[in-house]
Amino acid sequence: MDKGAFLERAREGAELIKMHIELGHTIRLISHRDADGITAGAILAKAVAREGGAFQLSIVKQVSEDLLKKLAGENREIYVFSDLGSGSMELIEKYLGDATVVVADHHPPEKESFSNDSHLLVNPVPFGANSVRDLSGSGVAYFVAREMNDANRDMAYIAIVGAVGDMQEIDGQFHGMNLEILEDGKKLGILEVRKELRLFGRESRPLYQMLAYSTNPEIPEITGDERKAIEWLRSQGFDPEMRYWQLREEEKRKLHDALVLYLIKHGAPKETIDRLIGDVVISPLYPEGDPRHEAREFSTLLNATGRLNEGTLGVAICLGDEDAYKRAVKMLEDYKREQIEARKFIIQNWSMVNESDHAYVFYAGKNIRDTLVGIAANMAINAGLADPEKPVVVLADSDEDENLVKGSARTTEKALAKGYHLGEALREVAEKLGGEGGGHAIAAGIRFPKGKIDEFIRLFNEALARQLRGEQGEDQG
Ligand code: C5P
Ligand code: C5P
Ligand code: C5P
Ligand code: C5P
Ligand code: ZN
Repeated sequence: MDKGAFLERAREGAELIKMHIELGHTIRLISHRDADGITAGAILAKAVAREGGAFQLSIVKQVSEDLLKKLAGENREIYVFSDLGSGSMELIEKYLGDATVVVADHHPPEKESFSNDSHLLVNPVPFGANSVRDLSGSGVAYFVAREMNDANRDMAYIAIVGAVGDMQEIDGQFHGMNLEILEDGKKLGILEVRKELRLFGRESRPLYQMLAYSTNPEIPEITGDERKAIEWLRSQGFDPEMRYWQLREEEKRKLHDALVLYLIKHGAPKETIDRLIGDVVISPLYPEGDPRHEAREFSTLLNATGRLNEGTLGVAICLGDEDAYKRAVKMLEDYKREQIEARKFIIQNWSMVNESDHAYVFYAGKNIRDTLVGIAANMAINAGLADPEKPVVVLADSDEDENLVKGSARTTEKALAKGYHLGEALREVAEKLGGEGGGHAIAAGIRFPKGKIDEFIRLFNEALARQLRGEQGEDQG
């Protein structure tokens, strides 16, 4: 990607924000409700405060017409969106035409730039970045903040927590401009990158739970079975109650070797084995055993707050609020339990799935919370329920509106290589269904009227078929 040109754009964004701070305007921040968005919001909030500015921050699920009407009603001089906005550029122009707008985001944008002079898109995708590998929303916010003030390099760890929340290192390593953030953090001594076991629970889970709850990747016969995990660990000479962080380096290596051997014996695919051990980021800013000490556990804690509509609590955690942290730890348990239940539900009911030529569509009704359908779709792939070359959509009743369903589509690099782009497909289908949809090639979302699930299945399959034939969406000609 063209890093220099992207950084130049980030600098323009930084200048706009600083100019409005000097004018005494409150900076209106709007960020996305997942770990990536929460960290992005925290980074921008701290950067504004550092310049002596005032901010008001909202953590939201998505940019809707309703949200933009509300924001327009506030009559602000400047709005800054992070980890969202790129899919709603025309709506933003329509409602916030009179104000300064900065969109600091990494989603594939509607168009390469705004038509309006006072609106600025800071997004690495038009400069050649891969939206799910090279930089996250928090990373874009980080570079804007770094351009505002070099001191903001002290938020490199928080930026990487957001990248991990978005699974930017899902293949086992960081890529693109994420590497520059890591370098900044290393130089300041606020983070460290290790080659370690990339499973959730390095700090807070006993080894047997780290293995038994591993769904990304799944460990054959051990995922979902605590007893089996305990037996296996004992047979390899490990105390199942130990935490991974407590192991000596040679013990970690012994565990890695044993796990790799186990996966090979059980016929796990090469990609699964490759990503099991890889980049793990830890920060000496927090004590060992604290979920904030390791980026994956930190991001999961933030996701837990966001999914319960307490995203601002997550922001407070990023800004160092200890009480907020203590409250969030309680939410984490529920969030994890719900994930395990979602996995059980989808495995037990997979026979209900609708399989067409190009997609699986699984409707979970109220059995899976609408904020967990993306995780459930990834679980269906990782558990081997779905052919990895065919995209998976999990639908659930919307938490907010009886008449709507929320869907998440997920797939693999293998499927993308065939020509699918889930974000474009869902955007196109949503338009036809009177809903809203979009996102990345590999991970995208949609909401639409509940009565239209059959139509959704047909239209989504057709849209994917056209993508394989190399055709554009119908409405674009
Ligand atoms: O819904 P989305 O895919 O954004 O969820 C990302 C978050 O969910 C990440 O924090 C990731 O660790 C978590 N996740 C999970 N189990 C999976 C897949 C994702 O806990 N199987
Ligand atoms: O909203 P946003 O861009 O922040 O989220 C990206 C989403 O893509 C997350 O839900 C993340 O879990 C998902 N993802 C995925 N597979 C990947 C990369 C990202 O499911 N390989
Ligand atoms: O999706 P991600 O790569 O973050 O997940 C890595 C591992 O951590 C998977 O086993 C996933 O299920 C687990 N995880 C979890 N609970 C979370 C986040 C991740 O069990 N909240
Ligand atoms: O909602 P879900 O987690 O499935 O979204 C996956 C990805 O698609 C996220 O990056 C999300 O921000 C994006 N998305 C979007 N526009 C929508 C719905 C989801 O850009 N209408
Ligand atoms: Zn993101």
